[in-house]
Amino acid sequence: MAPLDALRDTLGPAAVLREEAEIAPYAVDWRGVYRGAPLAVLRPGTTAEVSAALRLCARLGLAVVPAGGRTSLCGAAVPLAEGPPSVVLSLERLNRLREVDALDNSLIAEAGCTVEAVQQAAEAAGRLFPLHFGAQGSAMIGGALSTNAGGIRTLRYGNARDLVLGLEVVLPDGRVLDDLRRVRKDNSGYALRHLFIGAEGTLGVITAASLKLFPRLVLRETALVAVRSPRAALALLARCQECGAELVAFELIHRLCIEIALRHGAGLRQPMPLAAEWYCLVECASPHAAIPVRAALEGALMAGIEAGEAEEVVLCETEAQRRNLWAIREDFPECARREAPGLPTDTSVPVSRIPDFLERVAGLIARAYPEGRMVALGHMGDGNIHLSLQAPPGLSHAQWAARAPRFEEEVGEIAVELGGSFSAEHGIGQSKRAAMAALKPAVALDVMRAIKAVLDPEGRMNPGKLLP
Ligand SMILES: Cc1cc2nc3c(=O)[nH]c(=O)nc-3n(C[C@H](O)[C@H](O)[C@H](O)COP(=O)(O)OP(=O)(O)OC[C@H]3O[C@@H](n4cnc5c(N)ncnc54)[C@H](O)[C@@H]3O)c2cc1C
Repeated sequence: MAPLDALRDTLGPAAVLREEAEIAPYAVDWRGVYRGAPLAVLRPGTTAEVSAALRLCARLGLAVVPAGGRTSLCGAAVPLAEGPPSVVLSLERLNRLREVDALDNSLIAEAGCTVEAVQQAAEAAGRLFPLHFGAQGSAMIGGALSTNAGGIRTLRYGNARDLVLGLEVVLPDGRVLDDLRRVRKDNSGYALRHLFIGAEGTLGVITAASLKLFPRLVLRETALVAVRSPRAALALLARCQECGAELVAFELIHRLCIEIALRHGAGLRQPMPLAAEWYCLVECASPHAAIPVRAALEGALMAGIEAGEAEEVVLCETEAQRRNLWAIREDFPECARREAPGLPTDTSVPVSRIPDFLERVAGLIARAYPEGRMVALGHMGDGNIHLSLQAPPGLSHAQWAARAPRFEEEVGEIAVELGGSFSAEHGIGQSKRAAMAALKPAVALDVMRAIKAVLDPEGRMNPGKLLP
């Protein structure tokens, strides 16, 4: 029997997409840079069906590329252009919320639930699921865990990894590893869930996760602050951390990013005159209505002005103002895509080294790529800067990438030299494999390959991703 017929017979015709038009969206990545040619798209609706699909793919010798919301910025969720025969395994139909327990502060979601759906379920139970990033309406829990997503609240609640109590995973041979626990303490050996978090689908398929919930935030105050420099922003960050309310977000944004968002974003309003070069988007919050969050944040920002760190402040008066500020920040990646081809990076350094990092990258660009334009913004509160080198007018992405083939690696080198990472929150996928080979310590790569060989000896899980 032909492989695709065998898959259809096992999963049912509705769960196997075979027509070119149906497959097309799964064959290209979010940035439109990477394209593959999957034989089919499998859409199992239960863990048992995922298990059956993986068992059959093992028997047929097919490579499997797991896919969630397909918002990866590294080409992680599409097959290689010239890889082995492969199928995309989409988790989109595995989207039930199995349990919400406000008393245990936990929630069990299947891999295909969007991050936003999980946030909403937590909210309905009077709780907070704090993972929050621009693509949360499309990104799914399985994808967010497989990339160990970060986002704007990492400084307060940690990365996706820190929000997981347990996982259910289907191994490449079809066995189900059931570790869906709700307990906070379990020292019974290796914490296996952490192997699959951040593994980008190279070790197995996450089918469900037990997630941590927190008290809901009932007060939120948000400000945009024009700062004198990244170093001044660093001083302001420390001030806001000590202000008495919980600091839940502290983003650093270059003026160009705001201008690009205003140029291409729908319905965005300019929040203040853009006289400064750098801005901070700051949010403080509290789960208690009695905590004077506004006064605390206002006090920190006024002290920042007196100390010469902040130049101008807009403290939001309305929810509409607040939404506008966040839309400028979160619509930026999409707006940047419309503005010009860019070479994006995703680095982290210790928070205290961010000013040095930005200075060194600006020096690199002035020296080696003077025709390019640096656009930078990021989660300053956790040290993660997203910096992109935009092409001069008239160049395609391929031409620009050919002109600066080492840019991403060079920026990664600077981050590593400053004690940071060349891949902070988006993962490795296809785009950072060269950097992985160059910058990851050899022993770490050896251990990763050994783990991969035990769980996926035939190398069929998402081949050509993550490991160089
Ligand atoms: C506009 C925009 C803003 C973004 N902002 C942020 C941000 O602030 N912070 C951040 O961290 N990321 C951000 N990202 C990147 C991206 O949204 C995250 O990496 C997200 O976690 C990916 O989730 P997904 O469901 O789309 O995964 P996909 O893109 O579908 O897959 C990502 C990887 O996980 C694997 N995978 C997917 N599902 C499973 C599963 N169930 N089991 C095993 N492997 C699986 C895939 O094979 C692939 O390797 C942004 C992306 C966009 C487009």
